[in-house]
Amino acid sequence: MFAMQLALLSNLPARRQGGTLSVGESLASHGPEVIYREVTCRNVLGRSPAAEKMGYPFSWTVNPYRGCEIGCTYCYARATHEYLGADPQAFENEIFVKLGAERTVARALRPEHFRNGNAGGAEIAIGTVTDPYQPAERRYRLTRRILERLVHFSGLTLSVTTKSPLVTDDAELLGSIARKSDLTVHMSLISLDADLLRHLEPKGATPEARLSAIARLTAAGVRVGLFIMPLIPGLNDDPAAVRRLEAAARSAGAAFVVRQRLSLRDATWPTLEASLREHYPEVHRNLSRRMLSRSLRQQKTA
Ligand code: SF4
Repeated sequence: MFAMQLALLSNLPARRQGGTLSVGESLASHGPEVIYREVTCRNVLGRSPAAEKMGYPFSWTVNPYRGCEIGCTYCYARATHEYLGADPQAFENEIFVKLGAERTVARALRPEHFRNGNAGGAEIAIGTVTDPYQPAERRYRLTRRILERLVHFSGLTLSVTTKSPLVTDDAELLGSIARKSDLTVHMSLISLDADLLRHLEPKGATPEARLSAIARLTAAGVRVGLFIMPLIPGLNDDPAAVRRLEAAARSAGAAFVVRQRLSLRDATWPTLEASLREHYPEVHRNLSRRMLSRSLRQQKTA
């Protein structure tokens, strides 16, 4: 099914930043240049039984873009490009833009999404596999348009997850939604070390910019939580450094902190491995050993 979807998408026109691209032109010949593939969205609101099974607190997801230009080397969502039959290494260079997504979101809402008495409705999580405020948002404003639809409803349970300060462009809009629905913004920041972020999140914002974004959203009346995901053994999991990060986020206004350890996946490993080998050889050696023993375990159980 995914191969079929990709075939469909591949027939649609593509745009490069600053120009158009003929269909079928090779990504590889354009180096790191980013291609936007505009696709017509039929339904941006997706059910996520997998998330429910894994214990995540959301069951509906909204991802206005596929692929993510921020390009974190540890990003588990690279696998979603693989599911579509595309190269996970093109995850940050080939961005699918779901045009018309905002028109589909309101009509997909169901009674279960709305608060019933004191109980919250089924959570709609915006930005579960790609960042809804990645650079494409400057140009397409899909996330903003979706929020402009959602602000007309009351009693929803919503979350937005991002590591981009671009979210503050919508601070007032998010504040209006927060007055009518249960809204949380998750700001993702794994370290206060700007060098480390530069190596692992090539187009990510500085720690200062993300902390300022927390403060700006909080001032607009939005509840913000800090996501420290992933904690990579030997790299950003030093307890004192994590405490400093949490304290900085809390003094900017973060109401809570969620931490999660790295989950090694085959689709993620080649990109993460390359950056670790170059910049953090000791961490690379440790994680390589873990990957090796994991694959040996898998071979034994196969
Ligand atoms: S910002 Fe999020 S979705 Fe985008 S590459 Fe980084 S981890 Fe993946």
